[in-house]
Amino acid sequence: MVKKKILSHQKKKSKPSLPLVAVDVAALEKKLPPKTLRSHHVIIKVDRVNKSFPVGDSTVTVLHRITLNLYSGEFVIISGPSGSGKSTLLHSILGLEPPSQGRVVMRDVDLYQDLDEQARTRFRREKVGVVFQQSNWIKSLSVIENVSYPLWLAGTPATSARKTAMDWLEQVGLAEWADHHPSELSGGQQQRVALARAMVTDPGIIVADEPTGNLDSEASEVMITLLAKLNRVQNKLILMVTHNLSLLPIATRRTVIKDGRIIYDQHD
Ligand code: ADP
Ligand code: MG
Repeated sequence: MVKKKILSHQKKKSKPSLPLVAVDVAALEKKLPPKTLRSHHVIIKVDRVNKSFPVGDSTVTVLHRITLNLYSGEFVIISGPSGSGKSTLLHSILGLEPPSQGRVVMRDVDLYQDLDEQARTRFRREKVGVVFQQSNWIKSLSVIENVSYPLWLAGTPATSARKTAMDWLEQVGLAEWADHHPSELSGGQQQRVALARAMVTDPGIIVADEPTGNLDSEASEVMITLLAKLNRVQNKLILMVTHNLSLLPIATRRTVIKDGRIIYDQHD
């Protein structure tokens, strides 16, 4: 009786208090094509970007003179504590958040000098595929219609859009779910659909803000495999924020942000 009590106590204690979402990247690496080398071609230039927000009577500075050149072929993982400015930086790069000072230049276009808001939106839709932690679905549309949507916006005829969307659903392994509703899919499947939707316009750049944030280890592994292949086979520049440190080795570059400053930046 006493023994049993001790055992159940020990069992309880050995349980981890937080779920550990770890991906065995070393095992994954054996199944992936090799990493590509960093090129000298700058695709995104973040130039002394400051960002402050008014809070009450004062201002809070969230990004402090961030300078970052992102090169063709890179897979950049940005990590850092919660609240350190990672999402704000991605939003500035996406043309969604004008810096208080400094410039963001993407493919030689100064996003906030050369383009107005409407042109920035068009530019982003053309050049960048975006995946967030939580996908926003158009609830009245099926999976394949949601994936086709960016092509409809670009004026692609419906039949051709559907074909391209189906190609991408096949690439993420979800073709048989095409005519279902996104809400019928698991979190991991939804993130793969979000990736397909990000890719239909064939952007050269993928920006992903914690795309595996809500996923378990297995679904995270599937997602990171897809991203690594897009980087290594199709040479997409990937800029991804994650809290999952086990994913770091899959990247070609690791950048850490703390309190709005880059405190570490290392590439292969
Ligand atoms: P992270 O993505 O690294 O967790 P965020 O970039 O979301 O961090 O936020 C960085 C800081 O900026 C946080 O303290 C957040 O509260 C603040 N912040 C973000 N957006 C705004 C806003 N629109 N107004 C005021 N403060 C903001
Ligand atoms: Mg964030």
